[in-house]
Amino acid sequence: MALARLPSVDQVLRTPVAAAAVARFGRIATTDAVRRAVAAARACMRKGGAAAIPDAPAIAAGAVQILDAEGAQSLRRVFNLTGTVLHTNLGRAVLPEAAVAAAVDAMRSAVALEFDVGGAARGERDDHVRGLVRELTGAEDAAIVNNNAAAVLLVLNTLAGGKEAIVSRGELIEIGGAFRLPDIMARAGARLVEVGTTNRTHLEDYREAVSGATGAILKAHTSNYLILGFTKAVPAPDLAALARTHSVPFVHDLGSGALVDLGRWGLRPEPTVRAALAEGADLVTFSGDKLLGGPQAGIVAGRRDLVARVARNPMKRALRLDKIRLAALEATLKLYRDPDRLPETLPTLRSLVRRRADMAAVAARLRPAVADAVGGGFSVAVVECASQIGSGALPLETLASAGLAIAPAGRRGAGRRLEALAAAFRGLPVPVIGYIREGALVLDLRCLDDEAGFVAQLPGLQAPDSDSTEGPGAPA
Ligand SMILES: *Cc1c(COP(=O)(O)O)cnc(C)c1O
Repeated sequence: MALARLPSVDQVLRTPVAAAAVARFGRIATTDAVRRAVAAARACMRKGGAAAIPDAPAIAAGAVQILDAEGAQSLRRVFNLTGTVLHTNLGRAVLPEAAVAAAVDAMRSAVALEFDVGGAARGERDDHVRGLVRELTGAEDAAIVNNNAAAVLLVLNTLAGGKEAIVSRGELIEIGGAFRLPDIMARAGARLVEVGTTNRTHLEDYREAVSGATGAILKAHTSNYLILGFTKAVPAPDLAALARTHSVPFVHDLGSGALVDLGRWGLRPEPTVRAALAEGADLVTFSGDKLLGGPQAGIVAGRRDLVARVARNPMKRALRLDKIRLAALEATLKLYRDPDRLPETLPTLRSLVRRRADMAAVAARLRPAVADAVGGGFSVAVVECASQIGSGALPLETLASAGLAIAPAGRRGAGRRLEALAAAFRGLPVPVIGYIREGALVLDLRCLDDEAGFVAQLPGLQAPDSDSTEGPGAPA
C-alpha cells in the first residue's frame, strides 16, 4: 500500500534540508514540524489528493515552510495608508528617533531607573519626566502610568473611591472597546452621579449634586463625538470655581491632551494641558501616544498634594511604566522644548501637517509602479482623500490629503476582486493597509514616509488576474 512508502520522520530528518533546519530552528522544533508535515502528507494521500507519494526532501521542504511561517514575527511593521494618523489598531503614534534611541539604550543596559546617581540614594521612576511635564504644562507635579485609561482609573480610585464622582450625562464616554466611563468608575470604587441630560447640563445641576459624599467632579473630553444643536455644557472655569467653593477636586480627562497649540500649524486647536490647568483643573489626565506623539502612557498632571496621593495609591505600582517607555517618554517630551522644530522631529506632527500638494506629488510618482503591479484588471487613479487625526482628537475634523484609488475594471466579480486585491496588499512582506471606498481600494499617502520601501515590494504583489472574473464569488 502506498501509505507505507511514505518516508518516516527519521528519513526526513536525515535530508540535508532538514539538517539545515535543525541548525536554524533547533532539533525539537524541526522534529515537531517534520512530524506534522508527514502527518499532513498522510492525510492528503488518504483523501486521495496526492498525485505522487512525496519523497523525504519534499516533506522536509514542507516542514521548513511550517517553521518559517511560525517563526515570522507576529507583531510587525505595516504601511498605515488608512488616512488615520493615530490609528489605535495600528499602534497609534510612530515614535520620534530620539525616543527610539533612548528606548533601545534602556533595553540594552542597566539604567538609573529608581536610583539617584548624584546622591546615590533611591529615586523614583517618575522623577525622570516629572520636571519636564511641569515645565511643559505649568502643572505643580505629575505621575505617569500605563495609559490614560489607567490614569483615569487611578485618579478616580484615589479621590472618589468609596465616594461619589459627578459627571455630566453628555460626557459618559466610550472610547473604543472596553473604556466606558461608567465601568471605569465602578472598577475605581466610585459611585457615579450623573447630572444634566444628554444634550444640556447646567452649573445648577452640578451644584445640586455636590454633597459631603462627593469625591470629585469629573469633566471628560468628548473625544470621539460631538453633540450639536440645542446643547449646553458647563465651561471648565465655572466647574473649577464650584469645586473650589466646596473643596472638592475638579478632574479634567482631556484624552489626547496636546502640549502645544496645534493652531500654529494650521490645525484646529485641540485643548492643551496647560490651558486645562489654567482653567482651574486640579488634575488633568491625558495619553502619551495620542497627539503627544510618544509611547503608550497615561499622565496625571496638576496639584502637588493630589498627585502625591495618586502616587501613593497601591494601584500605582500595578499601573506604572517600565524603563523602556519611560526613556521614550522622556526623550519625546524633551523635543517639546524646541516647539519650532516639532514638525520635523515628531512623526505624528509631521504626518498631521503634511501638505496636500506633497501627497498629490507622491501619488503621481507612485501611480505607474502601482498600475504595473496590479495589472490590467484594475485602474489606478490619483484621488483626493480626507485623513483623520484619529484616537479621539477632533473627531469631525478631516485633513485634505491625496492618495491612489485602485478599482477593478469591469463589473463582473468586482467586489470579490477588490477584496482579493486588498488581501494581496496585506499579504506583502510589509503589509499595506488601506481602506475600501466606493468600489475602490484607497491608499491615503499621508503617513507614507518610506516611498522606496513601498515601491520595492510592489513586484511581489499577488494581484488577482484580470480574467479571474469567473468563480464562486457572487458578482458584486
Ligand atoms: C483616549 C481617551 C482615553 C483612554 O486613553 P488610553 O490612552 O487609550 O488609555 C480616556 N479618555 C479620553 C477622553 C480619551 O480620549
